[in-house]
Amino acid sequence: MFALTNVRIFDLQNYYDNGYIIFNEKIKEVGDMAGFRDNGYEIIDGTGHLAMPSLTVAHTHIYSTFARGMVIPFNPANFQEILEQLWWKMDSHLTGEDIYMSGIVSGVDYAKNGVTTVIDHHAGKKIKGSLTLLKKAVCEKVGLRGSFCFETSDRFDVDACISENNNSADIFGLHASMTLSDDTLIKVKDSLGDKPVHIHAAESWMDQENCLSYHGERVIERLDRHGLLNKNSILAHCIHINEDEAEIIEKNGCWVALNIQSNMNNAVGLPDYKMLKEKGIKCLIGNDGMSMGITGEWMSLYLAMKHRYLSHTAFDMSDLLTVIDNNNKYVNETMDISIGRIKPGYDADLLSIEYEPPTPIGKDNAFGHILFGLSRAFTPEHVWCKGKHIVRHYHVSDELEKKYKEAKKTAEKLWERIKSDSYNG
Ligand SMILES: [Zn+2]
Repeated sequence: MFALTNVRIFDLQNYYDNGYIIFNEKIKEVGDMAGFRDNGYEIIDGTGHLAMPSLTVAHTHIYSTFARGMVIPFNPANFQEILEQLWWKMDSHLTGEDIYMSGIVSGVDYAKNGVTTVIDHHAGKKIKGSLTLLKKAVCEKVGLRGSFCFETSDRFDVDACISENNNSADIFGLHASMTLSDDTLIKVKDSLGDKPVHIHAAESWMDQENCLSYHGERVIERLDRHGLLNKNSILAHCIHINEDEAEIIEKNGCWVALNIQSNMNNAVGLPDYKMLKEKGIKCLIGNDGMSMGITGEWMSLYLAMKHRYLSHTAFDMSDLLTVIDNNNKYVNETMDISIGRIKPGYDADLLSIEYEPPTPIGKDNAFGHILFGLSRAFTPEHVWCKGKHIVRHYHVSDELEKKYKEAKKTAEKLWERIKSDSYNG
């Protein structure tokens, strides 16, 4: 049993200036230090630290891990060409080893950035068994929580995609309307049951344009017509949807995952948060694989929405807190867990980060301190997932640190295959 002591605690709702947390897999006791009694716990002194629930990413692509620093011919004129010139080239060369090692590298990076729950959207030429490899690396080896699905697309063997999702995923992965024929969607529906789907929706205008010209309807209408919008589905981006589509999303109990840095990087536009909020849609926050953290996305969303509406009040800290908390609500509901608060009975998914506030701090402004004082370089000293101490004094286990260093060789081999294809293919 651990006791994190002398620590400032903030869980987005409750605040202790000098508190303690006693926990194993579950949080047992939380309170002011004045009430702490040592019963032989493993004590972690949290002096000068802030304890928070560890973080959740609602949409990511671990397969993109080894793209960091890769240089290949790249001069895209539009979103489709970004996919063709980079991501589809990359995923078509991924071996089982690449998938496993990308899980190790991203898992370690996520843990060190305080993220312990990830919702991943996987793609690649190796379909069968790919989700199991990710789970082995991310969940069993690194110790995070994860939900993984395979992005079914007409680019791949559709039957293999469907069976990988049916066998190994709790949420059914689909790439995007523009890479899915009606025949494929009918096949998916036949085996879907009430499983939620996880799909990129209207990420670029091209997805809408393709849908309108080939199917005479908009993306969300098409997914709805095929009966795919099951409750708790995740629709990533939804930048180019209209109000009618938003109403369909809300009516079906689906969630929209916002990934602002990726949207800006791909130059596809920004989501209309105000409209989504007005329609009662619950928004989540992901990183689309742009980083192995999430606090940078918090700040980007906060700034981008102010900029989009040319208004200081169009998207405030309470909006941001709602989105962050929705991530917890979503995984609690779909993964049958209990994270996001530091209260007895909750799972011990926690972090402790060094922070000495240079200005007064309390319950009402603690999130402002996190956003402006910590979010740009969010590096916790300790991270626990299910009570397991996965980051201790900024490090994961020696075995994982060693494996992480070995990944460079895997990346090198992958880059060679991609490059020889790019220059000779
Ligand atoms: Zn994505």
